[in-house]
Amino acid sequence: MFKLTSPSQQEQIRALAMRQIEKLLKEMQNDGKDLSKLKLKKFQKTHHIDCKCKLCEIAKTKNDPRLRGLLEDGFKVYVDGGKKSS
Ligand SMILES: [Zn+2]
Repeated sequence: MFKLTSPSQQEQIRALAMRQIEKLLKEMQNDGKDLSKLKLKKFQKTHHIDCKCKLCEIAKTKNDPRLRGLLEDGFKVYVDGGKKSS
């Protein structure tokens, strides 16, 4: 599996993805779609609290949960108010 080596690389990828999403949303808006209820949320899922991997050990010693290893990192786009799921 391809693994990113540094946090700065991950940050670059994230910024790039964000720009792509913004571009897509703008195009949708230009097409006359109502995006006023659309929400974009960044989500991160960290490792389990008992995880013993290197990242989680560092997070524990520094007492900073944000340093924990991540299982998932991405964006969720959802429309507010609607109960329908796609
Ligand atoms: Zn971990």
